[in-house]
Amino acid sequence: MDAAPAPRWQRLWREAVRDPLELLAMLGLDAQAAGISGQAAAQFALRVPRGFVARMRRGDRHDPLLRQVLPLDEEMRSVPGFGLDAVGDGAARKATGVIQKYRGRALLVATGSCAVHCRYCFRRHFPYAEETAARDGWREAVAAIAADPDIDEVLLSGGDPLSLATPKLAELTDALRAIPHIRRLRIHSRLPVVLPERIDAELLQWLRSLPWPLAFVIHANHANEFDASVDAAMAALRGTGATLLNQAVLLRGVNDDVDALAALSERSFAGGVLPYYLHQLDRVAGVAHFEVSDARARELHRELAAQLSGYLVPKLVREVAGDSGKRPL
Ligand SMILES: *Cc1c(COP(=O)(O)O)cnc(C)c1O
Ligand code: SF4
Repeated sequence: MDAAPAPRWQRLWREAVRDPLELLAMLGLDAQAAGISGQAAAQFALRVPRGFVARMRRGDRHDPLLRQVLPLDEEMRSVPGFGLDAVGDGAARKATGVIQKYRGRALLVATGSCAVHCRYCFRRHFPYAEETAARDGWREAVAAIAADPDIDEVLLSGGDPLSLATPKLAELTDALRAIPHIRRLRIHSRLPVVLPERIDAELLQWLRSLPWPLAFVIHANHANEFDASVDAAMAALRGTGATLLNQAVLLRGVNDDVDALAALSERSFAGGVLPYYLHQLDRVAGVAHFEVSDARARELHRELAAQLSGYLVPKLVREVAGDSGKRPL
């Protein structure tokens, strides 16, 4: 029997841009002036789907989408306070690929891989590739969840959980069906934004088949990340009955002004997505140049609240190791 052809999104995934010089050439930018770093790229490779590149402004080296993915010299600076395991994931490990920090919620590191490599990512140093929940056909993760009746919500995270093939995801949810204390499923994925083709018929069919209410948390940091293809993916996701939320990271040079944040909330909502969190950066090595001070973050958040409908204002939070939930600023 012939194997089924690989889904289209997997081809688009493989065709992502991986060479910083190619990316700059596509945007008509000069490599020297852009300050790109081979060392930073060697530590955490450039990866960005071509559809996302198409949303960047040509000829603008300060483009907010470009800044999120381009490896820069600044990442190699060592800055006190910026370490390797900034959020205490090592200590919160419940089983291989299962992290529990908060009551009721078990987070599965489904996979280590992502379609896009965000320079500010707190996972850039953590050994997620070996520590995934899918590694043994989900057995250890499912057993850990089944053994703890206090867990009523399972979060699929990563890496990006939707980087796994749909049958692999269905394997997990088939096993979870047998666990009576699960009440909600949550998926955290940046794929609907960076590779909206991932939201294909097979994925939608799987989502519609799930027995639990579904929260789908996308991850967009700037209004320019939305286009018609992203809107179509959001509409399709909403069609499954999922509640769509957005979490963003506050990033210097990307979205650290009130107009950019307001536009992000308004654009998200126009696409059917409610703002959820605005995160202060996790302080991992290599991301200091993205940091916004707490004082400035609070000021931006106040200005945003003065400008927008209440439901368009995300909660401003930081993750602090050992806390019982995200800490409001
Ligand atoms: C952020 C996070 C969650 C989810 O927290 P919410 O405030 O419910 O969105 C759950 N588990 C872990 C380990 C997390 O880091
Ligand atoms: S998609 Fe999320 S997990 Fe993946 S590199 Fe970007 S921020 Fe990190």
